[in-house]
Amino acid sequence: MRYLIVSDIHANWHALEAVLRQASGQYERILCCGDLVGYGADPNRVVDWARENVDVIVRGNHDKGCVGLDDLEWFNTAARQSAHWTQAVLTDANLAYLTQLPQGPVVVEDFRLVHGSPLDEDEYLIGDADVAGVAGYLDAPVYFFGHTHFQRAYRLSGGSLRRLEFEGPCALESGFAYLINPGSVSQPRDHDPRAAYAYYDSTARVVTPARAAYDIEKAQARILNAGLPPLLAHRLARGT
Ligand code: ZN
Repeated sequence: MRYLIVSDIHANWHALEAVLRQASGQYERILCCGDLVGYGADPNRVVDWARENVDVIVRGNHDKGCVGLDDLEWFNTAARQSAHWTQAVLTDANLAYLTQLPQGPVVVEDFRLVHGSPLDEDEYLIGDADVAGVAGYLDAPVYFFGHTHFQRAYRLSGGSLRRLEFEGPCALESGFAYLINPGSVSQPRDHDPRAAYAYYDSTARVVTPARAAYDIEKAQARILNAGLPPLLAHRLARGT
């Protein structure tokens, strides 16, 4: 099966549209590691699309925050303002969809989807030490995760951990466990503002990272016109 894997779309329709255009014809099913909404100005368009097109999804912390499933006190001010705005504009059907999204890990074939980490949906796996910390708890050979907005892949075996180069197709070897983040569609934080995503061919066991350029100015204008905090627009161009 050939999968398109997206994560952290954050209501950025223009970025998502560019990914779908670029990926067209190259996958059979769509997987999402969470955070459909929050930050961006097109939550209904993105959730409408997800309801129709995403085959398997886990919830993200912003999905929870925007529907009242989590208190927002640990969100920063801009994230909190955007969560309140999102909750107010979401249609009833989209609120209902976000409210019932499953907590990870969710099983797909022999691999798993999570938002944060295999142990805690809200935990950030940012540094090597974070990834090493969950190594002893994996019960599948491959986990796809999101949350950090960094497009990265790690290979683990016993006590050893290696961060892979992850710039082109990457063949997964048996006997290892892998933790793979497709990156964020809307808001990458590696100083490359293009939308990040990945493909996974589960038959060939090859994962391929990808980037798609999109019309950032249009996404920024949507955020500013909605009255959302300007920094949420500005950061899109910086890739931070
Ligand atoms: Zn996110």
